[in-house]
Amino acid sequence: MNQQNYIDEVEKSVLHTYNRFQMVIDHGDGVYLYDTDQNQYLDFAAGIAVMALGYNHKEYNEALKNQIDKVLHISNLYYSVPLMEAASKVTKAADMERIFFTNSGTEAIEGAIKAAKKYAYTRDGHAGHEIIAMQHSFHGRSIGALSVTGTEKYQIPFAPLLPGVKFATYNDLESVKAQITDKTCAIIMETVQGEGGIYPAQKEFIEGVRKICDEKDIIMILDEVQCGMGRSGKLFAWQNYNVKPDIMCLAKALGCGVPVGAFLMTQKVADQSLAPGDHGTTYGGNPFVGAAVSKVMDIMQRDHLPEHAAKVGEYLYEKLEQLMEEEECITAHRGIGLIQGVECSLPVGKVCAEALKQGVLIISAGSNVLRFVPPLVIEEKHVDEMIVKLKKALAICKENA
Ligand SMILES: *Cc1c(COP(=O)(O)O)cnc(C)c1O
Repeated sequence: MNQQNYIDEVEKSVLHTYNRFQMVIDHGDGVYLYDTDQNQYLDFAAGIAVMALGYNHKEYNEALKNQIDKVLHISNLYYSVPLMEAASKVTKAADMERIFFTNSGTEAIEGAIKAAKKYAYTRDGHAGHEIIAMQHSFHGRSIGALSVTGTEKYQIPFAPLLPGVKFATYNDLESVKAQITDKTCAIIMETVQGEGGIYPAQKEFIEGVRKICDEKDIIMILDEVQCGMGRSGKLFAWQNYNVKPDIMCLAKALGCGVPVGAFLMTQKVADQSLAPGDHGTTYGGNPFVGAAVSKVMDIMQRDHLPEHAAKVGEYLYEKLEQLMEEEECITAHRGIGLIQGVECSLPVGKVCAEALKQGVLIISAGSNVLRFVPPLVIEEKHVDEMIVKLKKALAICKENA
């Protein structure tokens, strides 16, 4: 079958919630993907910031194959060695005492919200607490996660959502202070806003939020689902600042292709929050995903992938600054490590579609941002290749504008 046949067949049955790029991916190798006609694509999307190790990573694949032959799933009624290894490696790296494995980033957010609410409930002896979230944030699509996602168009059809959520302006400390009441139990934010258009937290802002949380015994929840796991140049993006969250959410590159998320908390939070019976999941942290997380942690730390992301990220930063100078349609540039974005005055959907034709996968963020979230194993030569192809795509889009 040709690619169009496959696409038509998929569109007959899969619920149409995505406008997909018109390509059918067959396999990947390193930082390249190949379609069913064996055309090659340089990947600057990484399955939305997931495939940090790139594709067909032999050592990672081997670890998964070995685990498949042992046992895939046992439920959380029993212990397993992969769960032990994954939990101890991630908590140690984060210097946080407790972890709960989920199946996605959204579920990590759900768990974080419940943990914060239970903490305040235990302390105050009653429920009814409030959460402060940020405008233009993205935390997921379930009702709880959607309730703290500050993008109206995602929320409106699904009202009423979780009550007691207030929104502040990201990187505006005064706007956060203005939303605090004696009912506030948590402030939730991304350390680097991803879907909202790649906005890293400013130092004074995130450190200011930490101070408010300390003063008022408010739980600081950092969503590191996209920016965590080495992408910012540190294993966790908050390690670029003088802060540490009370609860952290992970997913995406935590499993590097295996569906797994997690929320972590300090012992202080754990002591007063979720207890037996309060929370659960059938799949979460099963031996298969445990083996994946454990191997991802080993490889990231041994191969110094966060440091590598910082180094190549600097190179990407320079090249995108240069691009902004050369191209009138590129009007702003933000980011850190290998999570960067540029604002583009041409329709970004068209630019991404044209980039695909040129052989590079680039995705958008928000309505006018081109997002660069490649595998962390990318090299400088791949940055050069991407820039050449992106420039061709921009030229074609300008011609057709
Ligand atoms: C992707 C994302 C989520 C949701 O994760 P899923 O695994 O898609 O449920 C939550 N927060 C942030 C910051 C994300 O980028």
